[in-house]
Amino acid sequence: MNCKTNKLAVAVFVACNTGFFAYASDIKIIAHEGTERAAVEQALDHLNSKSSSALILEGDSFVARDVIIDTDGAQHVRFDRKLRGLRMIGGDVVVHSNASGEMVGMSHSNVVEKSGNVAKRRTQDLTVHHDAEMAARNQAKAMFRGVSRADAVAEKVFYARDREPVLAFDVLVKGMSIDGSPSEMHYIIDAASNTLLDSFDDVRTLMSRDVAANLQMLTTFESNFAAQDSIGAAAPLTAKSVSSLAKAAATGTGNSLISGVVSLTTNSISGGYELRDPSRGSHYATNLSGSTSGNGSIFTDADNTWGNSATSSTQTAAVDAVYGQNLTWDFYKSVLGRTGIANDGRGAFSRVHYGSNYVNAFWSDQCFCMTYGDGNGSTYLPLVAIDVAGHEMTHGVTSRTANLTYSGESGGLNEAISDMVGTSVEFYANNASSKPNYLIGERVFASNNGVATPTTALRYMFKPSLDGKSPDCYTSTIGSLNVHYSSGVANHFFYLLSEGAVSPAGFSLSATQLVCNGNTALAGIGRTAAIKIVYRALTTYMTSSTNYKSARTATLKAATDLYGGTSAQYNAVAAAWSAVSVN
Ligand SMILES: [Zn+2]
Repeated sequence: MNCKTNKLAVAVFVACNTGFFAYASDIKIIAHEGTERAAVEQALDHLNSKSSSALILEGDSFVARDVIIDTDGAQHVRFDRKLRGLRMIGGDVVVHSNASGEMVGMSHSNVVEKSGNVAKRRTQDLTVHHDAEMAARNQAKAMFRGVSRADAVAEKVFYARDREPVLAFDVLVKGMSIDGSPSEMHYIIDAASNTLLDSFDDVRTLMSRDVAANLQMLTTFESNFAAQDSIGAAAPLTAKSVSSLAKAAATGTGNSLISGVVSLTTNSISGGYELRDPSRGSHYATNLSGSTSGNGSIFTDADNTWGNSATSSTQTAAVDAVYGQNLTWDFYKSVLGRTGIANDGRGAFSRVHYGSNYVNAFWSDQCFCMTYGDGNGSTYLPLVAIDVAGHEMTHGVTSRTANLTYSGESGGLNEAISDMVGTSVEFYANNASSKPNYLIGERVFASNNGVATPTTALRYMFKPSLDGKSPDCYTSTIGSLNVHYSSGVANHFFYLLSEGAVSPAGFSLSATQLVCNGNTALAGIGRTAAIKIVYRALTTYMTSSTNYKSARTATLKAATDLYGGTSAQYNAVAAAWSAVSVN
């Protein structure tokens, strides 16, 4: 079955609050297509029908965030949720209906409130003492690792991620973290006990901030911070700006640092060209020139030949970033049927030359952009490799779909899905200078320059423990690891699902070393089928709370949708999860 995805505009449909989430007169319907609107209305009806269950509480309200309509007419509507007017972290739900409009299931947090507690929740006193909020803000600021910029902001919420809802503060602390990355930390603090329930960053990085901090000269941190004001709040390209910009496509030549000479689509302007691609949502690249704030200036050029294959030209890293941006756009469009990160046809943008000696890259929802450091001038090149670009853009896709919370097991899955797509884009490119493999970030190591089959990388999907930090096999404590290590088990799953228990080139691992359960006969289904299954699971069945066990369920449902419940692909998904100890 082929699946057609339609993306709603922001907050298109709100079923408000005044009663038992019956349709209130102030339901807001903002422009979107008729079939999507009908799907949302139908899904709300289904939620209404569940109103006597413990899952849906009186006083809940729902905001539709995404709609997928399959080619066979089945519908999947994703909602964010409020409980008694408070945002409910982990309360998001996807309502699944078949082509006849009948509800066939819901995807939601793994814990449903006990019916005995529901009545209590309906009448719970939601007032909290001002001192409790102050204490939460102070506690959050004290926990921030780096230098915080402004006063912490506390929002009263319900926290319901894999637990019954509890009244809490979501304290947002912004600043610069220890590696010079911008940071937007959320500390979830129990309103009654003042204990920390969860913490996660809205800025999604390529690698652990601790590792990155050790790779760069720490003296640069203070100067980076001093220069930082904000990430930059450029609005994403609008439909109008995309069409007004997409007028004068030209073909340019890019001399990249990592991927050889590449063809680029650029935009003709008066006196030359700018690094903006009218054929791909008008996405573009800017030069931060060492700044850590603002959006930089778009790259321009007189002769449409960009970069010189070396870092001596500031254009070179931009060529790589744009090449990766183009490949990722094309991969999503041609393989997964998604047009742009938000699936709305609009491009994002890439900022290069962030800070000084910065050894990381990141995605930010705030600017809807990718940002790349220049490396440390010795062991690390600018972090603009193909798989890094695919990784960062996929953080944007994840935040627009399942929105996997960036902590615990869901955070590991968030990271892993970025690695899976990053690697898939590398195979899609099949660039002779940057040969595809299941290593992550191998081309940012200067020592791999010119090496056809590198064995050094940031991460190793087939044997995650080769990084010295990531586990190969699932255990119940994995959620306590940094998300860049808890990702390992899912990366391992993806490798085994794609390739089977076969050692990659350059490594001589036995089948026994590649699996956790002795299933040395494990066969792969190819990476295209594997990534389609993961993408279907991400967009259709996963939620912000999805953990490893529910990722197994989500991918099995996805495999059933795409290939059938008795297919080889379905069986391979089950076997690959079992081979990494997720049962
Ligand atoms: Zn990442």
